[in-house]
Amino acid sequence: MKVAIYPGSFDPITNGHLDILKRSLEAFDKVIVLVAVNPDKSSRFSPSERVEMIKEATADYKNVEVDYTTGLTVDYAKKHGVKHLIRGLRAVTDFEYEFQLAVANEFADKDIDMIFFMAHGDTNFITSSMIMELNKNGVDVSALVPNSVLKRLK
Ligand code: ADP
Repeated sequence: MKVAIYPGSFDPITNGHLDILKRSLEAFDKVIVLVAVNPDKSSRFSPSERVEMIKEATADYKNVEVDYTTGLTVDYAKKHGVKHLIRGLRAVTDFEYEFQLAVANEFADKDIDMIFFMAHGDTNFITSSMIMELNKNGVDVSALVPNSVLKRLK
């Protein structure tokens, strides 16, 4: 069985994340959405809230698991015997960060490989922080996030 991990902050999960997840499920038999918790970084939603929102948003998806880790994603991957990490690319600006992350992951564990999906045109402007900013200023973001997030934003 081909298993991949889709790691990220998911603070909160957006339709952009879900688009990448759906597409990765066409290439893998199972995808573990992994909330990577960085205790040194402040977050908008707690790890358990983030996991809960993802679980609700993916309840109808087959072959998805949701989990979180406070350690390195590569360590989680090794522990679960997973070799492939999924990431999404929105713009050239994502590339630099993602490239650096890929090299760092390779340094930590040379067996890990990253797989990148290019964001689709209708979701490539969506970021978690953009959602929060628009919502704070009264813009309806219901087309950009799943219901599980929308109800918590209200
Ligand atoms: P991180 O803090 O690890 O970057 P994010 O939750 O911001 O976590 O993003 C997780 C992954 O999903 C990253 O690879 C990011 O580029 C990708 N991603 C985020 N939003 C989108 C989007 N709208 N379209 C495609 N990929 C996205």
